[in-house]
Amino acid sequence: MLAVENLEVRYGGIMALRGVSIEVAKGETVLLVGANGAGKSSLINAVIGLVNASKGSVRFAGRDLSALSCDCRARAGIGYSPEGRRVFSTMSVKDNVLTGAHGRGKVAQREAWDWLSGIFPLLKERAAQPAGQLSGGEQQIVAFARAMSSFPDLVLLDEPFLGLAPVWIARISEAVRQMQARGTTILMTEQMARPALKLATRGYVMRGGEVRRSGTVAEIRDLALAEEYL
Ligand code: ATP
Repeated sequence: MLAVENLEVRYGGIMALRGVSIEVAKGETVLLVGANGAGKSSLINAVIGLVNASKGSVRFAGRDLSALSCDCRARAGIGYSPEGRRVFSTMSVKDNVLTGAHGRGKVAQREAWDWLSGIFPLLKERAAQPAGQLSGGEQQIVAFARAMSSFPDLVLLDEPFLGLAPVWIARISEAVRQMQARGTTILMTEQMARPALKLATRGYVMRGGEVRRSGTVAEIRDLALAEEYL
């Protein structure tokens, strides 16, 4: 489903990714773990097209993404939930969520809204309120829901649990499980890898812009523990 090969990303003189290769098969949930600055976000951002790779390739469903903009990648079926709380602050909570399903028709939008507001009742309670008035954790939920609202084939989740209360971690985990049941392919990063380890099937350990190891969730947990990522 997703094949990243020999990817290199530079920010000026800083080399954030040094020839990274990973694969995510259809329906898999793959976890990227690693300390601060390991390159996890750079990899996610290169897949969605927010940063340009200086070398290497990203293929999605057999298609080379290099020439496609972020918008085109989203339309091709990739959903992206950024680290932190990126919402349109003056737009209502409901409109924020549905921008992710923009152009998909009323029925699909309604289906997305019913599904997401069922998992996150906060969305319904605050539907008409400007998203900027919500707390940081609540805005993170809105950003997550927006990424899910197009029912993407591939979901990129950058630190979805960071700084969230246990109740929100449980609900995001539930949303991820429901997407897994639909056959969605998921690539997620996590520093606080414990909740993510319960969801993933496989993982990669990154350090210094490189993939150091890959393995099953159990192997990744042991490695991450040994390297004190958890
Ligand atoms: P974190 O968990 O802190 O987000 P990460 O594993 O996601 O870390 P990246 O954010 O991809 O790592 O960062 C990889 C390297 O690239 C780091 O050295 C970081 O300082 C650098 N970097 C990231 N974004 C930029 C940027 N916009 N400009 C310059 N350097 C950057």
